[in-house]
Amino acid sequence: MSKVLVTGGAGYIGSHACKALKSAGYVPVTFDNLETGWEDAVKFGPFEKGDLLDRDRLDAVFAQYAPVAVMHFAALSQVGESMSNPGRYWRNNVTGSLTLIEAAVAAGCLDFVFSSTCATYGEQDNVVLDEDSAQHPINAYGASKRAIEEILRDFETAHGLRHVIFRYFNVAGADPDGEVGEFHRPETHLVPLLLDAIDGKRDALTIFGTDYPTPDGTCIRDYVHVCDLVDAHVLGLKWLEDGKGSRVFNLGTGSGFSVREVMQQSRSVTNREVPYSEGPRRAGDCTKLVSGSRRAIAELGWSPDRSTLDTMIRDAWRWHQTGHYEK
Ligand code: UDP
Repeated sequence: MSKVLVTGGAGYIGSHACKALKSAGYVPVTFDNLETGWEDAVKFGPFEKGDLLDRDRLDAVFAQYAPVAVMHFAALSQVGESMSNPGRYWRNNVTGSLTLIEAAVAAGCLDFVFSSTCATYGEQDNVVLDEDSAQHPINAYGASKRAIEEILRDFETAHGLRHVIFRYFNVAGADPDGEVGEFHRPETHLVPLLLDAIDGKRDALTIFGTDYPTPDGTCIRDYVHVCDLVDAHVLGLKWLEDGKGSRVFNLGTGSGFSVREVMQQSRSVTNREVPYSEGPRRAGDCTKLVSGSRRAIAELGWSPDRSTLDTMIRDAWRWHQTGHYEK
């Protein structure tokens, strides 16, 4: 069976990708430094502990497994932290990815699937963002991901590294079988924070900004179910295996929901009140990020069937009540 090197395979999205890869007949080899990931989440293939900045370790893992492709998830991904500590983001995300890309090329592993972000687009006036929209990130996280996209393009020109870049919108939900789910320490993402607040595991959710130019004053995001998201990655891998060229795909649904709408949906799924307070804006947040996702649907045959707000929150709530990882 073909092996795929999955960096960040012990994290939220990477662990779901490993499950999807295994179901599709691949062996996912997780490479993760466990800084934000969990060894308990590595359930679907071998685990190699290592850091992206450690080229010798990467070379050894490429030599041991001879993967046919890389799926690169490992990254720091908190917008707020990227504004207060940009050096950490540039070193880990950009230098780390460059080290990985060089190791892949040296090993002759030339199919690369990359986890990028809608944060590369930045603030744009109320438009639906498609893959050809301009990229003007307003935070260091988005800037670091845009830089890696540029590295991939240069390495294709120079070394034939073929790549599929996925620009994610907001990922939510969990494996409906409950094998893996979202578990960050500290947690910074809206849906798990909301569920924690509902469950009494933290005091209250703070809404970051209620004066945005949106109908209810809170930020609008496009939420996509993690299982749909990783299905797209398997389709992206097959796209490369079929010899198709490098391509960028947005992964979102095209529907935007405000923070207050996500809160309202959580209330109706859990049948409980959401304790919350209203706070100032968080540095680096865009008003509205909504995807044009026609390309992934039309070209990859992607069908994001689980990505209704109701199903995402229902699946997240089920995981929230039963699942967690231990260090
Ligand atoms: N958000 C919020 N309170 C929180 C966490 C997030 O109001 O405690 C808002 C945040 O400002 C953004 C949306 O929820 O508008 C989604 O934020 P998240 O951190 O989940 O994802 P991001 O959009 O930063 O990738």
